[in-house]
Amino acid sequence: MTPAELELLTQEERRGLAPIEDDPFVVPFFEVARQHRSIRAELDAAFERVFRQSVFILGEEVERFESEFAAHCGAGHAVGVGSGLDALTFALRGLGIGRGDEVITAANSFIATALAIHAAGATPVLVDCDPRTLAIDPAAAAAAITPRTAALIPVHLYGRLVEMPPILSLAGRHGLAVIEDAAQAHGAWGEGGRAGGIGDAGAFSFYPTKNLGALGDGGAIVTKDAALADRLRRLRNYGQSEKYFHPIEGYNSRLDPLQAALLRVKLPRLDAWTEARRRLAAMYQERLAEAPVEVPARPRMRDALDHVFHIFAIELEDRDAARARLHERGVRTVIHYPTPIHRQPAFAWLGLGPGSLPHSERLSQRLLSLPLFPEMTEAQLDRVVSALHAALA
Ligand SMILES: *Cc1c(COP(=O)(O)O)cnc(C)c1O
Repeated sequence: MTPAELELLTQEERRGLAPIEDDPFVVPFFEVARQHRSIRAELDAAFERVFRQSVFILGEEVERFESEFAAHCGAGHAVGVGSGLDALTFALRGLGIGRGDEVITAANSFIATALAIHAAGATPVLVDCDPRTLAIDPAAAAAAITPRTAALIPVHLYGRLVEMPPILSLAGRHGLAVIEDAAQAHGAWGEGGRAGGIGDAGAFSFYPTKNLGALGDGGAIVTKDAALADRLRRLRNYGQSEKYFHPIEGYNSRLDPLQAALLRVKLPRLDAWTEARRRLAAMYQERLAEAPVEVPARPRMRDALDHVFHIFAIELEDRDAARARLHERGVRTVIHYPTPIHRQPAFAWLGLGPGSLPHSERLSQRLLSLPLFPEMTEAQLDRVVSALHAALA
């Protein structure tokens, strides 16, 4: 690092921005400071614009981001909300799903997927995944359908698009809604369209580490259904249809205009960042071909954009020991997720004991997420690969 860069870094650290990992020995799991630095002038200008407009709730920045994001997803409408969790909750409520209903999803997701179902008033029905793709197993989903089932939530885990035709036809046969949890899959696409735009609604998160991340919390629901979009706009804003008139009980959960303005700076760059992720993932796959690890959740079609590599995970024996050895060699990794949802104390009331969803449980012991972010260099990736070879030797 040059003295000028160091000086800038020190200033940024003083201003509370996430530091750039400065130790050449360490490969961070994720680092956004470099990305923010490269677009710093535009982020500053966006902040300045919101500050000058002095509209701090909803307004033009939110509306513009919504239409730009809807276009990116190939959906007619986007509704900006406070988080990915709220995006899922509102999608369910907007589709009329609540008390007395059951909603089927996979146990190997982030806990938000199940929390949203319960927050909407419905009961989460957790099923197992296909261990090769990590997507919800359509046969397990079919077997879990009861007269109370109202919806399916496929999760595009790690950025890999769930194979949607079997899910859509299952839903069609039973009259179920399909809500995509696209929190990890901004921009992925396959048969039927882009992530979030394939089912009845798609929920996104703009949590800072997601492929499209705000500088704080944020989320959105996308849908082709104008009437649903309208209900979602009410739900996020106290259930209000016109000022101080509330046909339904709503929430206070609106995408912040400042976050919308910052996201508008990032959205035009998302496709290039995705390309960088895909290049790095392809290098990992090539360089790990001989290693004693599995790469589950590979892309389905070689050149199609059905995987945006939010996370690059490998499956290995003795994961925890390998992780410790990687850490000693300066490589930072994360486990997504060490406890499947049905084994979380918060969901003990579902009564799903150990061994009830064996693939999800086994994978939670064996998956390890390697560093991957658009600004990662090939040299960093090589350091991860050689550290991994050494750790497994
Ligand atoms: C991040 C995430 C969410 C929740 O998003 P928040 O913005 O953190 O509320 C939901 N589902 C999945 C799969 C996620 O990865």
